[in-house]
Amino acid sequence: MKLLIAEDDLTSRTMLAAVTRKWGYEPIAVEDGEAAWQVMQEDEAPRLLLLDWEMPKLDGLALCQRIRQQQSSNPPFIILLTARCETGDIVAGLDAGANDYIAKPFENAELQARLQVGRRMLTLQQELLGAKDALAFQATHDALTGLLNRGAVMQVLEKEMARAIRLSQPLCIGLCDIDYFKRINDAHGHPAGDAVLQEVTKRIVGALRPYDQVGRYGGEEFLILLNAKQDQAQNLLERIRRAMADTPIVIEQAKLEVTISCGATLFVPPEDKRGGDALLTIADAALYESKAAGRNCTVFSPPPFAAHP
Ligand code: GH3
Ligand code: MG
Ligand code: MG
Ligand code: MG
Repeated sequence: MKLLIAEDDLTSRTMLAAVTRKWGYEPIAVEDGEAAWQVMQEDEAPRLLLLDWEMPKLDGLALCQRIRQQQSSNPPFIILLTARCETGDIVAGLDAGANDYIAKPFENAELQARLQVGRRMLTLQQELLGAKDALAFQATHDALTGLLNRGAVMQVLEKEMARAIRLSQPLCIGLCDIDYFKRINDAHGHPAGDAVLQEVTKRIVGALRPYDQVGRYGGEEFLILLNAKQDQAQNLLERIRRAMADTPIVIEQAKLEVTISCGATLFVPPEDKRGGDALLTIADAALYESKAAGRNCTVFSPPPFAAHP
């Protein structure tokens, strides 16, 4: 674990770096608070900090306060080193945001033990952050395909519509549904159906540009959001349709001819006052038409307004 040591006294600094390296830390030793602050601005900055209180330029207390002013989901663990051991000083140090302090002169064993506490706290904090991220991912993503789930992609729709309004740019809302998917389940089993869903996902994602969005809207239905004008959006949807139709999906040596049907419409701000629900209803009606027209095709429901050039 990286350890930032800020200590102006050369002898102490050298000793601290040597002893902590021996304990398995990766010390980064600097001679004043300003230099320590610079290190803290770097990517992957140390999370464990040992700061001398009395230092030129920026002292340990002020540095502590400055670091705590920065909002962070992964705040550092700060130990102040100080010759001051009046209660008032200790309170001031902890008030400034230090997690702990060590009074000079100190025994190495105490320093090692306090660093160990910091390391444990940081490990715990890291695990909590990881668990929080994992929960957030699970809450917004579909477990089978890894795509945004329905709730999350609906939120993205709202955001993309707001962005489209702000920039006066069109937004294509497309619904793609696997044709006769029930038959695949019936003929090859549910796990094969799951594998088809995963492969269809891969092909859709592969056909999209980095700034397009897709989510699993329903069982075998995908909501696709394209920042594109109508002709470009139609080309993209056609590319997606052909990504299925042109190449069979191979599941356990069986070659499955999988096709999808799409229904889409274009949101054209600023004139377009339709809301997300209305646009989805229109895209769904277009999808229904594409099914009625024989499937493996796209029906684009034209917007009531011309898009801006
Ligand atoms: P259409 O061409 O009209 O869309 O016909 P379809 O068979 O695709 O449509 P239908 O709505 O009749 O059937 C959808 C099927 O998708 C039914 C359901 O069991 C299946 N399904 C939904 N979610 C999953 C899933 O996560 N895994 C698997 N294997 N099947 C699923
Ligand atoms: Mg000093
Ligand atoms: Mg279907
Ligand atoms: Mg369906």
